[in-house]
Amino acid sequence: TAFEIEYERRAALSRKLFTRASQVIPGGAGSSARTVGFGWHPYPPFIAEGRGSRLRDVDGNEYIDYLLGLGPMILGHRHPVVTRAVADAIDEYGTCFGLPYELEIEAAEKVVDAVPGIDQVRFTNSGSEAVGTAVRLARATTGRRLVIRFEGHYHGWQDVVYWSNHVDPELAGPADQPRPVPSGPGVPLELSDTLIVLSWNDPESFVRVMRERGDEVAAVITEAAVFNTGCILPEPGYLQLLRDVTREYGALLIFDEVITGFRFARGGAQEYFGVTPDLTTLAKGLGGGFPVAAIGGTLDAMRLIAEGRYSHSGTYNANVIQCAAVSATMDVLAEPGLYERQRALGDRLADGLRALTAERGIDAYVEGLGTVFQLWFANRPIKNWRDASAYADEAMFTRWFQEMLLRGVLFHPLQFENLFVSLVHTDSDIDETLTAAADALTAAV
Ligand code: PLP
Repeated sequence: TAFEIEYERRAALSRKLFTRASQVIPGGAGSSARTVGFGWHPYPPFIAEGRGSRLRDVDGNEYIDYLLGLGPMILGHRHPVVTRAVADAIDEYGTCFGLPYELEIEAAEKVVDAVPGIDQVRFTNSGSEAVGTAVRLARATTGRRLVIRFEGHYHGWQDVVYWSNHVDPELAGPADQPRPVPSGPGVPLELSDTLIVLSWNDPESFVRVMRERGDEVAAVITEAAVFNTGCILPEPGYLQLLRDVTREYGALLIFDEVITGFRFARGGAQEYFGVTPDLTTLAKGLGGGFPVAAIGGTLDAMRLIAEGRYSHSGTYNANVIQCAAVSATMDVLAEPGLYERQRALGDRLADGLRALTAERGIDAYVEGLGTVFQLWFANRPIKNWRDASAYADEAMFTRWFQEMLLRGVLFHPLQFENLFVSLVHTDSDIDETLTAAADALTAAV
């Protein structure tokens, strides 16, 4: 295609590195989300450096970055305050003791202060780990086995939740009573007995299932706003319904805020929507780009860990790099007016994209908040995975992505991901992006 020819021309050194990488790294990249199979066709750009809101690849192409590491670079690349804090802490303390230390308390106190549903918190390494802990803790706490999760959400790669992310509706059956379908090979099918999978934003099916089996349900896990099927916001009252009905049946409500944490507001989606879960998982954003995740919850929900009746362990949990990064990131995010400013900036981009697609008569709409959103190419509003799989124009999204990439604007190539705006993107980044978008949309139609 014309894109492939132009991309190969611009990214010749990346091609070389991709060939070399593919010898020793399966798929040529360290996560499957960075591979050809996830839209990085014909191969991903190899990055030379990130700085603020920009990335430069090894061929010298510069990109305004809305991929932001798939979320963590909430403060942009190499934020000086966080980078300095981590380097200083390593110099001053070391990295890993297998014992507690004071900076860990400081980091925990700041997270507890920020997030409404968190009275106590444990740090760990990745979102997947945090989710695995949350689910098992909920089962241990309630003495129940069943977990309810929703189609189109992603909660990491652990067997217990690696189901029905982007499920084929043919395999999953009717939308109001779907069957759990593993998201890939290797997941024991027996685990399907421990799961109920539902369509999101569908109060009727949720209430019906809770009436039938609510007494067996340990937890309901949900993204508080969905960012693994593009962006889908909860319909008014839906999160509150999940809260009320889980409480009625003694099940725990887990908000997986791995993406929404610190992004919708300092206290995440739970602050923004005013609904408080029992357990919260956090990761992207938490450490300003350093690898750290957390499981937090109310005193009741964390009680088994506190009393030593549930072992949440991990050699690298709460290491110095993590706690220094969390502590510094929380300080940066506490700046008054920061979220309003950042959201206004992102909203300007979102509004610009709305106007540009409308002017061109393209069936499209933007969903999300300024700090993270997606441009949906669809001729009707999408409220859950079934809608997305039926109505999203993925081919149009691919053309849009490719035209933008060639114009120096980077985001994930798939319609079912989203665009992240950091707090260091500037008005001129937005202006440049919209100029590129005007041409790209015209070319992509
Ligand atoms: N939960 C959500 C909502 C996510 O978006 C992700 C990752 O994209 C995860 C969990 C897994 O986090 P990690 O990739 O850090 O294991």
